[in-house]
Amino acid sequence: MKKALCPVCHSEGQNVLALTVKHLVREALRDTVNEMATYHLCLNPHCPVVYFDAFGKTLKKEDLKVPVWYKDGASPKYICYCSRVTEEEIRSAIHQGAKTLEDIQRMTGAGSKGSCLTENPSGRCCHREIAKILEKARRASPQSQ
Ligand SMILES: [Zn+2]
Repeated sequence: MKKALCPVCHSEGQNVLALTVKHLVREALRDTVNEMATYHLCLNPHCPVVYFDAFGKTLKKEDLKVPVWYKDGASPKYICYCSRVTEEEIRSAIHQGAKTLEDIQRMTGAGSKGSCLTENPSGRCCHREIAKILEKARRASPQSQ
């Protein structure tokens, strides 16, 4: 299969369902989303493009209803979009002793609703992102284990 490259930054995109795109773009743009098309998510934090299709059509950060957490300037930085839990809240839970994904879920409510397909810009579950934050915190303070 041909790789899908972002028309602006030329980095490889990740497949996203049109259903996800349709839910997250601003109301005025909803009808422009082609339900039969395959969309791709640009993973480059510095690129303004969020979604692009095979024809080079793009949807940028400002075309979405929510900030995309890993993009430059995202505020707030939601990690769990279903329960609207931010990176800051997850870090603070870790600071208060959370050591596992389960601890984070219990303390913040993150990852407990499972509406990722229509709420998360990647269309995927936030568990892996939470694991990354835990891992980063663990590396930053190894003696607290
Ligand atoms: Zn890009």
